[in-house]
Amino acid sequence: MNGLVAEVALKGATFAFDKLYTYAIPPELHSKALKGCRVTVPFGRSNLKKQGIIFNICNGELKGLKKLSSVTDEQPILNEELLLLCKYMHETLFCTYYDAVSAMLPAGLDFKAVTRYTANTEFLPSLLNETEKEVYTFLLQNGETDEQKLKTLFSVTIDVLDSLSEKEAVFKSDDYKRKIGDATQKWVRINENAPEGKLTPRQKEVIELLNTVGSASVKEICYFTGVSVSVIDTLIKKDFLIQYEKQVFRTSYSKTPTDTHEISLTPEQQTAFDGMLNLYNSGKGAVSLLYGITGSGKTQVYLKLTDAAIASGRGVMVMVPEISLTPQLISIFTARYGDKIAVFHSAMSMGKRLDEWKRIKTGAARIAIGTRSAVFAPFDDLGLIIIDEEQEHTYKSEKSPRFHARELAAFRIAYHKGLLCLASATPSLESYTKAVSGKYSLFTLKNRYGNAVLPEVETVNMLSELKNGNTGALSNTLYGEIDKVLAQQKQAILLLNRRGHNTYISCAECGYIETCPNCSVSLTYHSANERLMCHYCGYSKKAEKICPECNSEHMKFSGLGTQKAEEELKILFPKARILRLDADSTASRDSYSEYLTDFANGKYDILLGTQMVAKGLDFPNVTLVGVLGADMAAYSEDYRSFERSFSLLTQVVGRAGRGDTAGKAIIQTLNPDSELIELAKQQDYIGFYNQEILTRKLMVYPPYCDICMVCAQSLSRNIAEDTINRIFENIKSLINGEFSTVKLIILGPSPAAVPKVNNRYRYRMIIKCRNNNEFRKMLRKAIDVKLLQDTSVSVDINPETTI
Ligand code: ADP
Ligand code: ZN
Ligand code: ZN
Repeated sequence: MNGLVAEVALKGATFAFDKLYTYAIPPELHSKALKGCRVTVPFGRSNLKKQGIIFNICNGELKGLKKLSSVTDEQPILNEELLLLCKYMHETLFCTYYDAVSAMLPAGLDFKAVTRYTANTEFLPSLLNETEKEVYTFLLQNGETDEQKLKTLFSVTIDVLDSLSEKEAVFKSDDYKRKIGDATQKWVRINENAPEGKLTPRQKEVIELLNTVGSASVKEICYFTGVSVSVIDTLIKKDFLIQYEKQVFRTSYSKTPTDTHEISLTPEQQTAFDGMLNLYNSGKGAVSLLYGITGSGKTQVYLKLTDAAIASGRGVMVMVPEISLTPQLISIFTARYGDKIAVFHSAMSMGKRLDEWKRIKTGAARIAIGTRSAVFAPFDDLGLIIIDEEQEHTYKSEKSPRFHARELAAFRIAYHKGLLCLASATPSLESYTKAVSGKYSLFTLKNRYGNAVLPEVETVNMLSELKNGNTGALSNTLYGEIDKVLAQQKQAILLLNRRGHNTYISCAECGYIETCPNCSVSLTYHSANERLMCHYCGYSKKAEKICPECNSEHMKFSGLGTQKAEEELKILFPKARILRLDADSTASRDSYSEYLTDFANGKYDILLGTQMVAKGLDFPNVTLVGVLGADMAAYSEDYRSFERSFSLLTQVVGRAGRGDTAGKAIIQTLNPDSELIELAKQQDYIGFYNQEILTRKLMVYPPYCDICMVCAQSLSRNIAEDTINRIFENIKSLINGEFSTVKLIILGPSPAAVPKVNNRYRYRMIIKCRNNNEFRKMLRKAIDVKLLQDTSVSVDINPETTI
């Protein structure tokens, strides 16, 4: 017999068993079971209840099908477009359907929150209708009552309760903003090095929640899972969780916009804007790349585009690499658009995230600003997506689903036939190549706005400083310039891009750095076996004590960190007010923006930090930028490291002289002749691009291929190694047989750079390939190996780093 059937993706399915399962829809659920609604279904031989979501509804044979048990949502939580996006992610990212679904939904939605109601004693019941009055009176007499109980007692729908709380006759307990809005909160996250141990079901629930959201406040965990504080305390005591104090990030937007002035663009900005507006209006779905040097006024162009999209009644998404580092962009947007804005980022409380998600879904907010997860904002009609600093690695997710926001944004814009605007002073090589080839439309801003000129840049040879006996962090030149800045009461930004684990060995005499003979990347020093290793091909050699180039005995380990630099600065400039910002500092992520505000308000003289001080900041009073060591990143063993170094140097140099006073930048380096530094000095992105793209071509790296990293993890070293080897053999036989058209180059298998994490051994291989249907089909077959317990295989297409 035929009837309505639902295709359902199941939560918790493993990759090998993940597909859309077909269920019969029983007649009583016909009107409720809609595409995009979550459901519960019986699964497996013992018909365990599982959660899922309906992807498709059609007519089909009912015979032999199990039936949907219940429908969880009153309305679909994912629309047609987002369901398609899930399928696209499943198809291209090697994740399960539900992984994609979970990434799209605010965590709070996936956990049942118990909503409770209390009566407002100061309310006049005469304003209520009969049913409402009944509920209200009950609450007055009985105190706080949960939603389910009210629904059964009075057989009322949620509408009645909503109406009551809208009239403020009752208060909803999930006004968690009020309840848990303290300035600092106790937060917890999972301890990565947690001991092995059995968990109770309640404890498991907490861990599962934290696995999806990363971290959360204790109050919220209790609220969303219903466990008591003692459960969390036990987990902390047993070292499963780490607790910390967190300052609450508050985006307080005024309801009414405060900035209503008409933007007047410069001719150059106007040309870019007009071109992009044309693309937007063409309704074809286009991607533009706005390449504008630092200080050229890209933000003004964003605002004009946003105005246009909002005026045409469509939604806008503005993506930023890291929310706490871009307070300026957010405040500019909130000043202009007030509560039309919804903000999304990971440091936000779950309650707040859920609220913002709902505001977009209901259309109350029309502009979503946020980090990479904002790409899933549930718009029904999306016109414009802007991705600021599109080259930043934070747009790529490092856990499943391993998506790049740029690619998903392109998918969404193609669907809605809108405009995707990628923007940067140093675009990724991939994007710029697409712009040059005409796939993207290229728009350029060549000049700084107003009177601001690019700073004068000077390089200082740190080898000469060393030879002259200066072993400190500062060269004499930089010391002198800082001294001047302090005397003039201006400000300085100092960058020290220390990537801790990347210890490399160089010769203090000639600057020689050991590189891999096969991969032209530098070798990493492993202290455990005193060997230098290549993380691409597995090559290794003993660390030399004598320089192979000049026979000097002064081989040195590099590793000057920000902390050490800060100590030195304090001694050299005892009166200076120094602000140190880096990822390892104990301060919570959110307080960065407060520190930056303090710096902007002149409470500090010197800002010292890692790359986070280099990006997107616009401080007119900063006249000096110093780069303490420009070499570290360039010699890390990743193919993108030159691109990153160039971007970083260009960006940080661009921080100086944005006001009326001309700026200066000092770059300290062991390689004064380095072309990369020369190009960054001149802010010559095109020059850098032309050179770097040749290397990529020669070495076959993106954009000339895609990189696919396959990783096997297991508690046992042998099993991890064996698993990756079996996949490797599978690939070999598949491309020699059925998939002979698939072209690829495999590096490895080899142990991962960090071979053991959290007691799990990691083996991987890097495949240079064309990421197309054929390749993915082949790989899906190849990774379909029998996995022993505690073993997993992951696939990452175009990972941000291959280290
Ligand atoms: P970018 O993001 O390209 O580095 P910004 O957007 O931060 O540059 O602009 C640099 C400075 O120039 C900002 O202070 C900005 O307000 C100002 N500016 C740029 N374009 C205009 C314009 N058309 N009108 C007024 N101010 C502008
Ligand atoms: Zn190598
Ligand atoms: Zn040497």
